[in-house]
Amino acid sequence: MSSRLPAATNQSEQSFSDPANPTPNPALISDDARIDFWAAQASRLDWAEPWHTTHRFEKPQVIGEDQDGNPTYSVPEIAWFEGGKLNVAHNCVDRHVEAGRGDHVALYFEGEPGDRLVYTYADLQREVARASHALTDLGVVKGDRVVIYLPVIPETVIMTLACARIGAIHSLVFGGFSAEALKFRVEDTGAKVLVTTDGQNRRGKVVPVKVNADEACSGDNQIEHVVVVRRTSRPGNKQLAAGTRGARSNDELEVPWTPGRDVWWHDLIKDAPTVHTPEFFDAETPLFIIYTSGTTGRPKGLVHTMGGYLVQTAYTHALLFDLLPDTLDDDGALRPDELSMVNDPAKVDSTVHWCTADLAWVTAHTYEIYGPLVNGVSEVIYEGTPNTPHPGRHFEVIERYGVTNYYTAPTLIRSLMGAFPHGIPQIYNFSSVRLLGSVGESINPEAWRWLRSQIGRDQVPFVDTWWQSETGSCVASPRPHDPQFAPPGTFAAGTPGTSPKPGCATRAIPGVSVRVLDESGEPVETGHQGLAVVDKIGPSMARTVWGDPQRYLSSYWQQYGERGWFLAGDGARLDDDDDLYILGRVDDVINVSGHRLSTIEIESALVTHPLVVEAGTTPVEDPLTGHAVLACVVLTPAGAEVSATQLHDELCAHVTREIGPIAKPREVIAVPDLPKTRSGKITRRLLAQLYHNQPLGDRSSLQNEEALDAIADVMSARR
Ligand code: ATP
Ligand code: MG
Repeated sequence: MSSRLPAATNQSEQSFSDPANPTPNPALISDDARIDFWAAQASRLDWAEPWHTTHRFEKPQVIGEDQDGNPTYSVPEIAWFEGGKLNVAHNCVDRHVEAGRGDHVALYFEGEPGDRLVYTYADLQREVARASHALTDLGVVKGDRVVIYLPVIPETVIMTLACARIGAIHSLVFGGFSAEALKFRVEDTGAKVLVTTDGQNRRGKVVPVKVNADEACSGDNQIEHVVVVRRTSRPGNKQLAAGTRGARSNDELEVPWTPGRDVWWHDLIKDAPTVHTPEFFDAETPLFIIYTSGTTGRPKGLVHTMGGYLVQTAYTHALLFDLLPDTLDDDGALRPDELSMVNDPAKVDSTVHWCTADLAWVTAHTYEIYGPLVNGVSEVIYEGTPNTPHPGRHFEVIERYGVTNYYTAPTLIRSLMGAFPHGIPQIYNFSSVRLLGSVGESINPEAWRWLRSQIGRDQVPFVDTWWQSETGSCVASPRPHDPQFAPPGTFAAGTPGTSPKPGCATRAIPGVSVRVLDESGEPVETGHQGLAVVDKIGPSMARTVWGDPQRYLSSYWQQYGERGWFLAGDGARLDDDDDLYILGRVDDVINVSGHRLSTIEIESALVTHPLVVEAGTTPVEDPLTGHAVLACVVLTPAGAEVSATQLHDELCAHVTREIGPIAKPREVIAVPDLPKTRSGKITRRLLAQLYHNQPLGDRSSLQNEEALDAIADVMSARR
């Protein structure tokens, strides 16, 4: 099966291509054209059967009234490509082998201790086949949940694809999470199988993991088997790879074992066949459950389905990471065709993609697992922390594999800036890099400029991709081929937007529309802060919250009711060019005497001060002004020498200069670290709770719980 079936709808390629306007404003695309656009993009995939209905959207309907007389709504229903059948793993692996690209590298794996492995697409096909048989042998069938609690190792990708292949719903959990956080996910998903490792390499140490898995399975759950990948005692770890400074070997760990339930991965796949015939599933079959970062409260388990998710993932990965073919536009300039349904084979072949996210984060699902593989490129996956054994580890990885796309997070860039205050030493060769990207938070202009000058020669495109677990894939971003990034002379004179806008998500991708609205749904004035709203959704939108459809309604759809607009929960504004700036979460807005200030803007200002590495701001109550700004700052070594009063005065003066006196912090507190979610986001609400000495809300998503005690100590010393 590898025929590419024609789409069931009747669309013409021409209807999307307007040479005079190569990047049409998607808000201007009619519903029909938008739906046809996605139908056309779906031809990127192999379908075993065509769909009969490209898109169905049952918007919320009024079904009654609550006690206060407000309307209550039905839960919306979204479907794309209904009736179509496909296999996600076939699309990500097998079809590349069938197309003669079996020898092309799929994964370059580098472990934290320095061990390395290379998997071609043909290797990946064999491994996924074995894992698929193994899961079936354990009794896993379509619709069963499998929780994958693994670090960034090849087995994580293989197991994920094996689940997709047999129709099991995977839910990946960050390997650094506590037993408690894992337990919540094991129980909430009702998983039948948990996959874990014996131990993990973390910051140069081997830490036991299986004990956490056992603890997570100790309560009320549906787990029948725990599959254990041997990681920390693998022979490869003892063979130290040359070129990794400070690499070390691991000792064997003792692994607690429950006979009958626990099974070693290597035993399970030992005799499994290396060929597996895929089954084809309806496009709306659930593919995975992803829990949000939990920045604003208890994580939500969002459900994504096979067809729509893979279509938008394939297209946006190609669009953002420059795989689309170049065409000559009317002005005689060479420019990628933003609406193309195919990729440029030469670009695909020469790409070495590296998304640095942990595989359990939505970023990695889309732009580290499914996106790169569905498009058939080579990619790097790296197990460890960026500063092990030294802060230049990422630079070694970029150089070693000739990484072309370096896609990372603002928090990581800021920590690199802190580690290399005088710039990256000139011992690394970054000439392979042709594109930079970031995701997860608004990027501070300072960090944007630093990365682009240090690694991107002040030349390469920088995609600041705005999206969420809910949207499944990117919603708004600058394009790599935007004129602002073009080398001089590439585009005809007179093209708009010739100066880069650091930290600007720019505009929605084709086929999706974003607006900045007030609470009643009216557009806000240019330059003013409003709510980011997706008023026309793409096919990768989450279909529900696992086990809690009411929360899906109340969190995202209730606000605009029957209009069917998705409330993203982020603040935003448009500039004079109608370009979009994301200003952080609405919950994080600081309202000082009626002035709505964005946490991210104040933080961006603070980190441009030479004494500050990182900043987290949050509203704290103030009897006069409503809110006052609390700024928690992580300092450079020089900053640590400065007195608290001097620090306060300097930073207040600095914020006043950068933004205005209204934004200056009432208090500046130097802290050793900021609380962050696993994806590196600052959990600002915890700063406020610690400051007010209030009970702390949900902490299960934190990557550095120890930071809380340290901050609490600093704060109590001030009381
Ligand atoms: P929760 O919803 O549980 O509070 P979360 O919103 O942090 O957690 P994610 O879905 O992982 O969980 O993150 C999406 C959020 O990340 C967006 O809503 C936005 O606030 C932020 N974000 C992601 N990319 C960008 C970006 N490029 N610019 C600005 N903000 C971004
Ligand atoms: Mg969110």
